[in-house]
Amino acid sequence: MNEVQKIMHSYHQLSSVERLSFYIALPQDIDLNKKSIPELEAEIRFNEGEKCMHCGSTHFVKNGRRGDGVQRYLCRDCGRSFLATTNSIVSGTHKKLNVWMKYFQCMKEGATLEESAQKCDISVSTAFQWRHRILDCMKEIGDNVCLGSTVEADETFFDLSYKGNHKQSSRFTMPRAAHRRGGEVHSKGLSAEKVCVMCAVNEQGVSISKVGKLGKVSSECVDKAFSGRISNDAVLVTDNEKAYRRFSEEAGVRLVQMETGQRMKDGFNIQRINAYHSRIKGFVGRFHGVSTKYLNNYLVWYNLLFSPSKDRGDTEHLLFGRALSAEKRMLWKELPDRPAVPVLVQ
Ligand SMILES: [Zn+2]
Repeated sequence: MNEVQKIMHSYHQLSSVERLSFYIALPQDIDLNKKSIPELEAEIRFNEGEKCMHCGSTHFVKNGRRGDGVQRYLCRDCGRSFLATTNSIVSGTHKKLNVWMKYFQCMKEGATLEESAQKCDISVSTAFQWRHRILDCMKEIGDNVCLGSTVEADETFFDLSYKGNHKQSSRFTMPRAAHRRGGEVHSKGLSAEKVCVMCAVNEQGVSISKVGKLGKVSSECVDKAFSGRISNDAVLVTDNEKAYRRFSEEAGVRLVQMETGQRMKDGFNIQRINAYHSRIKGFVGRFHGVSTKYLNNYLVWYNLLFSPSKDRGDTEHLLFGRALSAEKRMLWKELPDRPAVPVLVQ
């Protein structure tokens, strides 16, 4: 076999998701437009069995082609017509595959909206909508992570921000007077103007985090954030916050709590979670005032990008394959109408 044959042989061994990663890794001068998004979507989404994008039925037939040549299908069960791209993150967009490829690359690099818009030659508002379409898909992956071994947990606080809400959403009313741009949140400490974010990281560096509530942490908030997310054979290490005690008792998780000023207890410490807090603040800080309504998506993004996957390919597979194959109806106009403060407990 010559080199090309060897590569082609290896190529055919790849799964469709791996092939997608392979396309991404190709030099930029290769014309990705030869493969259309619907073709690629059909390859990925029909990989585990062909089914209707509306009802999941396998009872459907080909039903001609759209004007631009894209295959149309008709479901015999629900009677609805669909494309391979129906109800996916790319539905309703008319950008070419290579633009999406570049965009995924930007996501992988943690690029800002301006950087992504420039690199992909799309508008900043399109870049924003794509970002959250992708991250909404990623959230499901993040929500299924359960941490074992030694788990350090602690809450951290972000300023409450209603940035962007009033312009885009028809339903949003400002709950209080707006702060001046760049102004400090007035009351220091754990006021209701701080968003309490629940974070945990295990020995391997796998992390989870989620917006919990406004103001100080509570037992209920710890329960909601960590129930089912920390395995019962784990050792949970925290500071001396009593909100973690009920959770550890009910979940049957061993709890080790540091006294104030204590650096080490029974061989455990909370250095990893403290480092996590400063890194995640640095990451979110790069985006200059993330609105609280989208904060969970940025947490998901960070946790995914900096998950200790064996190789970077894992992250690529998650980002590209899962995002493209996800079955989720995401209407562009719904994006701004999500809750302004997505808390687990009031
Ligand atoms: Zn159907």
